[in-house]
Amino acid sequence: MLQKASQFLRQANLIDGEWVQADSGATIDVVNPATGLKIGAVPKAGKAETRRAIEAAERAFLTFRKTSALERSKMLRRLHDAIMDNQDALAALLTMEQGKSLTEAKGEVGASAAYVLWFAEEARRTYGDVIPSPWPDRRILVNKEPVGVIAAITPWNFPSSMLARKIGPAIAAGCTAVVKPASQTPYSGLAWGALAEEVGIPKGVVNVVTGAAGEIGDELCTNPIVKKITFTGSTEVGKILIQKAASTVKKVSMELGGNAPFLVFDDADIDRAVEGAVTAKYRNSGQTCVCTNRFYVQAGVYDAFVEKLAAASKKLKVGPGVEDGVQQGPLIDDKAVEKVEELIADAAAKGGKVVTGGKRHELGGSFFQPTVIADATTKMRFAKEEIFGPVAPVFKFKTEEEAVALANDTEYGLACYFYTGDLGRAFRVMEGLKYGMVGVNEGLITTPEAPFGGVKESGLGREGGHQGIDDYLDTKYVCIGGLGL
Ligand code: ADP
Repeated sequence: MLQKASQFLRQANLIDGEWVQADSGATIDVVNPATGLKIGAVPKAGKAETRRAIEAAERAFLTFRKTSALERSKMLRRLHDAIMDNQDALAALLTMEQGKSLTEAKGEVGASAAYVLWFAEEARRTYGDVIPSPWPDRRILVNKEPVGVIAAITPWNFPSSMLARKIGPAIAAGCTAVVKPASQTPYSGLAWGALAEEVGIPKGVVNVVTGAAGEIGDELCTNPIVKKITFTGSTEVGKILIQKAASTVKKVSMELGGNAPFLVFDDADIDRAVEGAVTAKYRNSGQTCVCTNRFYVQAGVYDAFVEKLAAASKKLKVGPGVEDGVQQGPLIDDKAVEKVEELIADAAAKGGKVVTGGKRHELGGSFFQPTVIADATTKMRFAKEEIFGPVAPVFKFKTEEEAVALANDTEYGLACYFYTGDLGRAFRVMEGLKYGMVGVNEGLITTPEAPFGGVKESGLGREGGHQGIDDYLDTKYVCIGGLGL
């Protein structure tokens, strides 16, 4: 396993085409969450290294911006092929540092490649406009140009694909990048540097810096060379970054927290809803921003749904991601387990009924039992807070209006899901839900072809879809006069 992953295990930062250590020589240990053992250490870089990476990206931009869309498209296609050729090794690396099952890790790496391929195609379609002119002797053009140096900060739950959604459109648009992966899972991010080198992406186009989040983040947000910040992570940190980026009026894209509701109506196909619920709840051990946080089930099918969801949850195989057939790995660390325990204790104290699970798993470490809690109420903390763990609270509702109101009663607005067999209801509910993404009779909807992103405090901008490249482009209006026509 380690052997497979080792070809991408970089213990250095990539700045201006060189693999380097932090100026101070300081490092951060990286731990395998399934074993608690140290995998290795990465540089603890700070302000100075980040500034050098930004300056390298600025130099690289001078020539990279002049490459043709076709050239960049071909680079991205080579990158796609390199990811797929090394899918197993990259998945092994991802499982080792993040904990998710090898099946999910392979899926994530495949998704990274799919995003890169999508943006290889979009690179060639950043069309501008020629606008009918109100003046007889002038012509109006609208061009799209790369914004310049972009900075990307990514989380530990999808350390590979979250970068694909940022590096892909950046390269497609002709931008250069400085990226900072999460300290818990830096290797999948550093692997992007190795892959970029391998496929001949010019030096300085992709720079990868690991280390002190606040220091690196401050430099990325305040350095005037950086023209755009793209971030995936918590709403709390997103707000800090938006404020800091304001000092130099950077573009910002934010993929922040969610509090996804999952509605099941009396007229739904219950077995299908349970199948969707398992995916929408337990993927990545519940540690995704689109994971269901709140199940709302109509009174007529409530008991049946709870029973079937509990049975399906109980059947999930928990274990180290590298073991065959494992469906749920450990949580990222002990802090995550403590939060889940607190939320369960809070619910139990307020009348919640633990139908299955509810405790740390017998495997120890940060493994946790898939948990279903019935009789959930709006007074319980998980009605408002992101759980980020394998806990499924099930609330009961009576009417459609009540369900939509409950679903919308949150400052978040990322993903939501609902199940119904009634077409009219499907449209009414879909139109009533204030969310950036809606799954109707589907529990897993992410794909490169569609725009991923939220409304309200879940974020700004979209990743994927034809919209996914927009934030990496500036619009330039050109008026050509004196044509003597
Ligand atoms: P999570 O709760 O998923 O760990 P965070 O928002 O804390 O989400 O972290 C997401 C990313 O943001 C990580 O790469 C983390 O290191 C980085 N980060 C955390 N705090 C800051 C900060 N003050 N400035 C810049 N980046 C930060």
